Amino acid sequence: MIFKSLARANEIGANSYGLTTSDAKIVLDAGMHPKNEALDSVPHYELIKEEGADTVVITHSHLDHVGTLPILMKQHHRAKAYMTKPCVALTDALLHNSVNVMLSKRTELGITDYPLFDHDDVNQVVDRFIGVDYGRRVRAGHFEETLLTFQDAGHVLGSAGVMVENEGKRFFYTGDIQTHDQTLIKGADFDFQDGIDSLVIESTRGATPTDPTVTRPNEEQRLVDQINKTMDRNGSVLIPVFAMGKTQEMVTLIHKHQLNGDLPNVPIIIGGLSTKMTIIYDKQRRHSRRSNPRLELMRIKNLQTASRRGGGIIRSSPRCIYLLSSGMMTEKTLSNSFAQGFISNPKNSVLFVGYTDHETPGHALKNTERGSKIKLDSEKPATVFDCDLETFDFSGHANREDLLDIIEESKAKKVFLVHGDLPASEWMQAEAKKRLPGSEIIIPEPGKPYSV
Ligand SMILES: [Zn+2]
Ligand SMILES: [Zn+2]
Repeated sequence: MIFKSLARANEIGANSYGLTTSDAKIVLDAGMHPKNEALDSVPHYELIKEEGADTVVITHSHLDHVGTLPILMKQHHRAKAYMTKPCVALTDALLHNSVNVMLSKRTELGITDYPLFDHDDVNQVVDRFIGVDYGRRVRAGHFEETLLTFQDAGHVLGSAGVMVENEGKRFFYTGDIQTHDQTLIKGADFDFQDGIDSLVIESTRGATPTDPTVTRPNEEQRLVDQINKTMDRNGSVLIPVFAMGKTQEMVTLIHKHQLNGDLPNVPIIIGGLSTKMTIIYDKQRRHSRRSNPRLELMRIKNLQTASRRGGGIIRSSPRCIYLLSSGMMTEKTLSNSFAQGFISNPKNSVLFVGYTDHETPGHALKNTERGSKIKLDSEKPATVFDCDLETFDFSGHANREDLLDIIEESKAKKVFLVHGDLPASEWMQAEAKKRLPGSEIIIPEPGKPYSV
């Protein structure tokens, strides 16, 4: 088999990798760069233009893994896309939402290349999706001699690592991983018992030292304390979250503490795309490993869904918990517009529960001194920041020691480090060499073919 990175750089950007077997031309993931715009957000699909693609494998439905799938599948009109059943439903919703986002960016930011695809394109590619169950071997390729098995990656609903088997060789691509149980979704369930030859693994947290005092129970307690403190003074809490994954995890976590009596029975408010995604989480609950398989999030008594109709504004009421996307408070999103007046009220709190990239309004807010002004939206006046702000670690990604454990357990002869900025991949490379001294640990150069 030949492996080739189609990414534009060694970073957490637009994930996509080519894998050629004796009878299949596979593309693993078809991401969109979360920060770049228009054609700069698309992977280097021109690198596989000549040889073509007949099989696409999607690990999970985050934008950086699936955002340009319609572009790829339009270029290769016979290709089929394999993913887990929950991933089919989530990807369908996400891609249609993405068309709407691109259309508004065209109007608001004047990016005339947008939309890169339209709703019809999405409908056509969704017809070529094949939903598979975890652990079931499916045949792909021209002579059906390439075997694909999806194994639970524990990252979000429907997330998977995929085993590709061909001509006696076993290749495994992890996608994004969480090895520990989250409140809603159980940790990764990879099976390397029969050994693997090559491993492609994410390295998101490679440059983040693991703090032993930051444990999940400690983080939950800190969150509960801060919410209680805010409710006691009649304030409200804003938690910026991603619509898919972090929203449902935080709803479950807060619900758990409300049931225990650790938190008051105040409304939990979600909105927009998050509502759509939460409905899918409920519908697909039998196709995922959950801590509480019977729990239906939309039936939680305190959960309320806010509509963007009525001027696109959600008004803040006292003693509410607002879980609004996006997680990084990107301009023109619910969490960004909601924060404008919210952060000036000293009774309120903003609680960050996930990663915020540099150059995002969320990151800027974290680094703003209380009492000074911040411009959250370039087209709106600056706002005074005068409320509590806390940051918590509820990452959906494995820490770097867990990633090294997976590498060691795999005993792979070749390990490729992807989905990480260069310092992260380099730390992982140095440490992985100590764990598997006889193996090659590679940070793949975009476009370069590697035999696996
Ligand atoms: Zn992800
Ligand atoms: Zn990712």
